[in-house]
Amino acid sequence: MLCRREFNGLCARLGVSFAAVSAMLATLSSATTFAATQPSNDAGRRMVRFRDGTIVPAIGQGSWHLAQGRHPEAVEEDALRTGLSLDMTLIDTSDNYGDGRSEELIGRVMAGQRDRVYLVSKISNDMTPEGITRACDGSLGRLGTDHLDLYLLHWRSPGTDLSGVVAAFESLRAAKKIRAWGVSNFKVSDMEDLFRVPDGHRCATNQVRYSLDSRGMERDLLPWCEQRGMPVMAYSPLGGDSGSLVHDPALARVGATHDCSAAAVALAWAIRRGNVIAIPESGSPLHVKENAVALSLTLSPQEIEALDAAHPVKPTDIVRSWLDQGRQWLRGFRNVE
Ligand code: NAP
Repeated sequence: MLCRREFNGLCARLGVSFAAVSAMLATLSSATTFAATQPSNDAGRRMVRFRDGTIVPAIGQGSWHLAQGRHPEAVEEDALRTGLSLDMTLIDTSDNYGDGRSEELIGRVMAGQRDRVYLVSKISNDMTPEGITRACDGSLGRLGTDHLDLYLLHWRSPGTDLSGVVAAFESLRAAKKIRAWGVSNFKVSDMEDLFRVPDGHRCATNQVRYSLDSRGMERDLLPWCEQRGMPVMAYSPLGGDSGSLVHDPALARVGATHDCSAAAVALAWAIRRGNVIAIPESGSPLHVKENAVALSLTLSPQEIEALDAAHPVKPTDIVRSWLDQGRQWLRGFRNVE
């Protein structure tokens, strides 16, 4: 993260004033055009294609808070099974969700139907090559399966050796313990670094926060990934733990015209561009049924415009994007030196 002094210095070196940056930010914050170009399955449900040709539903199921007492576990299992039956067959988890209890619960849900699930898990702690292999074996054991469809690096810590991580992921892929790998919480500058290491371009996706209330990645990461044909996974698409968007008046108004919930509209908005997979979490079968509606809900350009106007990109997100551009510029400058 650049401090204010570094940012001012960067502006001076780039020959722009803070006022000019603010004016550009104001223009950028009002710019939004989207097109729905997703493939769909026979039932008209929206799907997303990975670069290796694998096709998954545009709405999956998250699991961060499952098996931690928010709902009875039997109800949460029922919720996930309901999602599977409604084509939300991508399930996202992580070795650190509930210290592995989320993975164990998913293992019970998948028993007898593993081949119907596109299973995603993450490595969160020891990111050395040995640590990654150990963590993957641990996840496979808790999930009761012999492979993950996608394995993600949960985040990049300051000391993370990206070439070591990629080499470890590639070894797991060669051993058929994972089918593909990706990253999470990577900014564009991190993606650029990743693509510079051997095999870094094999990254399947980047999982980042994205919702109508948190639109930062539209400025930089989403176009970066689109240019490379790489889908993005959107976490917290309903606003996070608080589910803050499920009572949003602008979403509820659009929902009323389609006879569906605000949550379904929030999810349809998140996947509207065709290269985003949203992974809402719910431990409630009723909520899961509401969320599944988004798989076949098409918003009109006017509805998208109204939602964009009610929730414009926040100035803080735009500044963050500029700071990351500064970071990329500084790294490029150091590489040239
Ligand atoms: P979210 O999916 O935006 O929101 C979850 C909340 O919304 C829960 O409180 C849930 O409660 C509620 N909800 C779901 N559907 C609803 C509906 N139809 N009506 C009303 N309320 C509804 O937030 P999230 O859990 O932060 O994100 C989703 C998933 O993304 C996580 O589970 C995890 O798998 C992943 N994630 C990844 C990262 C990362 O760093 N890679 C970070 C955060 C999250 P009920 O259970 O009662 O329905």
